[in-house]
Amino acid sequence: MTELICITCPKGCHLSVDEKNDYAVTGNSCPRGVEYGKSELLHPVRVVTSTVRIQGAVIPRLPVKTDKPLPKEKIFDCMELINGITAVSPVYVGQILAANILGTDVNIVAAKTL
Ligand code: SF4
Repeated sequence: MTELICITCPKGCHLSVDEKNDYAVTGNSCPRGVEYGKSELLHPVRVVTSTVRIQGAVIPRLPVKTDKPLPKEKIFDCMELINGITAVSPVYVGQILAANILGTDVNIVAAKTL
C-alpha cells in the first residue's frame, strides 16, 4: 500500500493505492484521484514550469511551461533544454519555444506575453 496526497486540486485528498489489488485507490473525493493515484505509481508525470532568458523585453526572464505533463524521468533533461533556450521579444503567451521535446508530443510554451 502506498500513501499519496492527490495534487490534482487544492483539496489534497490523502490517497492509498493498493499495488497488490490492481492499484485500487481509496481516500479520493472524486474520480480524478483514482486516475492520479494509479498514474503516480505506474507512470508518474508532471507539468514543468520554469523561465528562460529573453532578449529585447522589459524583464530578463520569460516564464515558460510544458503544455502537457512530461514523464518524471525526463524532467532533468527538460530543465537542461530549458536552460539552453533564449527567446527574443515579442513572444506571445502559448507560443511554442521548443516542439516535441525529448521524443514526446510535449512542447515548451511561453506562459506570458513579453
Ligand atoms: S481526489 Fe479529487 S477532490 Fe481529492 S484532491 Fe484529488 S482531484 Fe481534488
